[in-house]
Amino acid sequence: MLVPTIGLEVHVQLKTRSKMFCGCPVEYGAPPNSHTCPVCLGYPGALPVMNEEALKMSALTGLMLGCAIPDICKFDRKNYFYPDMPKNYQITQYDQPICAGGAVPLHDFAYPKDAQKSITHPGKAVRLTRIHLEEDVAKSQHFETSTGIDFNRAGTPLMEIVSEPEITSPEEAFAYLTSLQQILVYGGVSDADMEKGQLRCDCNVSVRPEGSPELGVKIEIKNMNSISGVRRALAYEIARQTDAVQRGEKLIQSTRRWDDDAGQTFQMRTKESAHDYRYFPDPDLLPVDTRAFMAEVRARRPELPGEKRERFVRDFGVTAYDASVLASENALAVYFEAAAQGARNPKSVANWVINDLLSALNASGTSIVECPIFVGQMRGLVDLIDSGEISNKQGKEVFAEMLATSLPPEVIVERKGLKQVSDTGALEALCDQAIAASAKAVAEYKAGKVQAINSIKGQVMKLSQGKANPQLVGEILARKLAG
Ligand code: ZN
Ligand code: MN
Repeated sequence: MLVPTIGLEVHVQLKTRSKMFCGCPVEYGAPPNSHTCPVCLGYPGALPVMNEEALKMSALTGLMLGCAIPDICKFDRKNYFYPDMPKNYQITQYDQPICAGGAVPLHDFAYPKDAQKSITHPGKAVRLTRIHLEEDVAKSQHFETSTGIDFNRAGTPLMEIVSEPEITSPEEAFAYLTSLQQILVYGGVSDADMEKGQLRCDCNVSVRPEGSPELGVKIEIKNMNSISGVRRALAYEIARQTDAVQRGEKLIQSTRRWDDDAGQTFQMRTKESAHDYRYFPDPDLLPVDTRAFMAEVRARRPELPGEKRERFVRDFGVTAYDASVLASENALAVYFEAAAQGARNPKSVANWVINDLLSALNASGTSIVECPIFVGQMRGLVDLIDSGEISNKQGKEVFAEMLATSLPPEVIVERKGLKQVSDTGALEALCDQAIAASAKAVAEYKAGKVQAINSIKGQVMKLSQGKANPQLVGEILARKLAG
């Protein structure tokens, strides 16, 4: 049997305000070539100046992923000739990168939904080789008879996260990217949106006979723009390589392009055309002593998604699944936590946020940050239900009104006259009235037909115009009929 081995190289656009080695602004979607200067256009004689914030963000990423941050890192020139890089070299880090080692934890809910029941290595963490910092290149745009180049992206800070080749399935690659993306967004280092090119992934994949210590011929796949696309590309490529090997075909080391519409990979180039980059230290840039800013970076490390999930389960009694949904986005986690804090039953708050609030927000395309229901009001609504002041059904009605008007739940309950009657005196009277009017049901109940109580209960609810607290009514009736 043949088994796959996968390693991922992920390029992440950092969310700095300016570029890596000049002061040009970093802005997605600006008119082409509107953010350029002699440095990022590669004019002769222009000198680079390091962006300290980009270094700090990379170090922060390293801290979040458990990497070692060496005291010294440095920048090198990677030489190649391509229109997207007018200097004819890219400034990157070769043998002394900013972060070494580390790992990306794969949690159960980071896997594709259909694969969560059959996780082959639960609790696995994929180790990292390194993280280095470099500058991005310009963006080529191919027209019918010509190619345009937009230098707005040239020189923007790019972080490259390289994994060890120890991912063993397309589903693990999916979980790796989902987990990594979440952590990057939590740290505020990138928006990490694959469709916008803020997170770009190259996959190295090979197949080998199970148990063989030697890796198979490595094939690199480029050009994937979604996490599910990575999964599909890998599944296709593993099947293609397996089939080729079984037919006795000899694979050659090469780079392939994934076409998501066609659902296939296509060969771009073979190893014969691989570059010799002739790396050497960039003489314009001094080595960096990271100790100068590590104290500040350590203070910036946020609580990570995994830590938050554990704490939510421990402190609020929610399920692991609830916690994974609530901690999937920092803003959502903040919302839930503020609403659950001091609530009668935090688990009910979790249910309302996950089932009702999130689906309502999704339906209207609203983000949690713009949520029309303030946290205190959300807690207020759930408390009204948990204390029995309004029924769950009434709660849904109040919730819909809160979404539409942003009014506090108490005000809506008051205006709509929804309050459940929990005043026992009033309920006793209604129960007596219903018992007197339901001789048949009473007789049946007393003869042992327990369900007969429901029709009497229905009478009470009707008399109260639906406002009686059903639980209390049940208790009162049971007591009265037992006598
Ligand atoms: Zn510039
Ligand atoms: Mn790179």
